[in-house]
Amino acid sequence: MLYMPSTEGNYVREFDARVLRRKDDYVVLDRTAFYPEGGGQPTDVGTLSWPGGGAAGVTRVEKKGIIKHVIDGDPQRVPDQVHGAIDWQRRHAHMRMHTAQHLISAVVLELYGAHTVGSQLYTDRSRIDFDLVKFKEEDIATAKARFDALVDSAVPVRVLEMDRAEVEARTKKGRAQLDLLPKAVTRLRVIEIVGYDLCPCAGTHVRNLSELGHMVPLGRESKGAQKERLHYTLEPPRQVA
Ligand SMILES: [Zn+2]
Repeated sequence: MLYMPSTEGNYVREFDARVLRRKDDYVVLDRTAFYPEGGGQPTDVGTLSWPGGGAAGVTRVEKKGIIKHVIDGDPQRVPDQVHGAIDWQRRHAHMRMHTAQHLISAVVLELYGAHTVGSQLYTDRSRIDFDLVKFKEEDIATAKARFDALVDSAVPVRVLEMDRAEVEARTKKGRAQLDLLPKAVTRLRVIEIVGYDLCPCAGTHVRNLSELGHMVPLGRESKGAQKERLHYTLEPPRQVA
């Protein structure tokens, strides 16, 4: 895949590829910049086009061993060489929401010691589930202030690859469920909010917190004795001079 593992790889919007397989409602490509649904981040959508004016919409991308690009229409009509283009507006919204999730999870761990146990991202709003916490109303405002200050500081975000042992040594206690990863995994893709947070993740992220904009809390729900769900969205980012 083109978008792994580099920071800039997350910004690849278009690419050329060769079709390796056509089956049912999908095609398999030799390379791709499409993000397959997973880890709380929705699928990319977009188009495949080819010389002569032909095109097919990519309606869903899934990774089940291979990466399947589900297209509208018959996959047999897709020629060997295609040009892929992802819906960038949608993808960039997911990148902002996903990076914001990392930052909120890190802030809430720092301030309240709560662990992130799940998240779901959308283009216009997202949510995170926390364990071992009972928020008070003012806690959300305090977390937002910390979040906004880090965004205003324009902290860089990097995508790295690291040995598992190094990740285990450098990840803050309670930040990631590293014990859930199979023992066989020895190298990890890691997202670093430089100087603040480190977390293994396969999703797509922005390269600087200044792309996020300020946090807009949309409410919280109690999900049990010590479980909370936080809903949020983002203000548009400030124009960087
Ligand atoms: Zn992530």
